[in-house]
Amino acid sequence: MGEKLQADVVILGGGIVGAAIARELSRYQLDIILLEKAPDLAMGTSKANSGIIHAGFDAHPDTLKAKLNVRGNELYHQLAPDLGFSIKFVGSLVVAKDEAEQPMLQELLDRGRENGVPGLEILSAQQVLTKEPNLTADIRGGALWAPTAGIVCPFQAVFAFADNAVINGVKIMTECEAQSIATSDGQVVGVETSRGFIGARFVVNAAGLFADELSRTAGDDSFTIQPRKGEYILFDRKVGDLVNSVIFPTPNKVSKGILIAPTVHGNLFIGPNAEDIDDKCDVSTTCDGMNYIIEGAGKLIDRIPLAACIAQFAGLRATAADGDFIIRSSTTVGGLIHAAGIQSPGLTAAPAIAEMVAELLNEQGLDLREKPDFQPKNPPQIHFAQLSVEEQQQLIAQNPLYGRVICRCETVTEAEIVAAIHAPCGAKTVDAVKRRTRAGTGRCQGGFCGPRVTAILARELNIPIPAVRKDTAESNLFFDKLPADGEVNCHD
Ligand SMILES: Cc1cc2nc3c(=O)[nH]c(=O)nc-3n(C[C@H](O)[C@H](O)[C@H](O)COP(=O)(O)OP(=O)(O)OC[C@H]3O[C@@H](n4cnc5c(N)ncnc54)[C@H](O)[C@@H]3O)c2cc1C
Repeated sequence: MGEKLQADVVILGGGIVGAAIARELSRYQLDIILLEKAPDLAMGTSKANSGIIHAGFDAHPDTLKAKLNVRGNELYHQLAPDLGFSIKFVGSLVVAKDEAEQPMLQELLDRGRENGVPGLEILSAQQVLTKEPNLTADIRGGALWAPTAGIVCPFQAVFAFADNAVINGVKIMTECEAQSIATSDGQVVGVETSRGFIGARFVVNAAGLFADELSRTAGDDSFTIQPRKGEYILFDRKVGDLVNSVIFPTPNKVSKGILIAPTVHGNLFIGPNAEDIDDKCDVSTTCDGMNYIIEGAGKLIDRIPLAACIAQFAGLRATAADGDFIIRSSTTVGGLIHAAGIQSPGLTAAPAIAEMVAELLNEQGLDLREKPDFQPKNPPQIHFAQLSVEEQQQLIAQNPLYGRVICRCETVTEAEIVAAIHAPCGAKTVDAVKRRTRAGTGRCQGGFCGPRVTAILARELNIPIPAVRKDTAESNLFFDKLPADGEVNCHD
């Protein structure tokens, strides 16, 4: 690391929670460092989830989940335009297949009203089928309609928070693993990392599945995290309009059930199941999992378009024993704040969790003096595919790199890829480009654009092609057969 680093606050973990906290704290005159052990942000649970901004009727009143879900949903309305990520408030339906499931709709309606969720309404079966004509015609129990539910790309939200944090002075260190939280006389003094020691009076533990292990390094063993896997099937955009809103079945004790939803980019997905596992790194998909979610989704929709499947993936929920979020100061170590056990609706709640963590830090003695020059907005990003032909032509005239479509499935241009590489929290790997620009997320899954993106990364980062990685440390794509000077024509 070279120089000895010192910060007011070190945040452990670069998922949606760590990134939202970094952005929130960047309002204040503080030195903040965020540590992420992976090569990019958003590579843990924040990468693989349903991407729903939940309305907030699911969690029981008096839980942190309920309070922070509703507040988080509210905050996203302003954050999405300010930080420049896409969000669509498409609404959600909890569908009761028959009369036996109807009492659950009433229970969720009452709970939602108590939680302060606006606009909830129970619809008849006929109203549901008018809204969603592709649902199975044998729905008889009606549905709970929540108009404030939304959909978002979870990792683009992480990058948007992180970019804004960096613009406002936060230092983000990827490939930097926190190994232990250092204490002296029961007070945090810093973090021992894979790249040396960082001194700090305050540490925020937002390390997702590993938050319990890091907490134990400081002598706080007050909670454990259990991984719970959820698997998904993602479909091509050509079937993206099968449903208009997020469709849930009535929930069970461990999960909200197998849902069908559009993505903010126009794809469709079904999932997730919920299976407790031992390995915190096991994101494999399984035959049993696939069959289970196909069967579950089949209860809501007659025709699942399996031929249009383009990917399967899995994510791991970081569940805590009592099921609620753990957001509090450590009871044994001064200066340590936990934002742990952040299972669903953690994506939704993240900005509200960030507000709460700032309050907790303040209570612990951190002085929160506002920066006069805080920049609440990110510079606008260009999404070429969403523009009119006239706008596209104007852009190409200004910058010919907009005329080079690198990803044909998703119409992503070289100019957008170059912008993603040089963003405040820029892309350094092929998958990091994919998560920021969508190059490689279409039906060919990067078969066409992968080599071209590799060559652009080599050129822009001024590194040889064999040094370009797909994602993790050992994921180099090419070896010594290619010229090491990056001389590959990516424009043909
Ligand atoms: C199947 C599934 C579906 C879900 N659906 C939804 C949904 O629709 N809506 C919703 O609101 N929520 C949903 N969630 C929940 C949501 O995804 C999580 O609450 C959220 O992503 C948690 O974010 P996080 O930042 O706490 O964790 P993570 O994203 O896991 O971030 C933690 C980070 O810490 C890093 N880290 C760990 N250890 C160290 C270390 N020692 N040093 C440095 N870095 C470290 C990790 O690499 C990781 O990047 C879902 C979750 C799952 C699994």
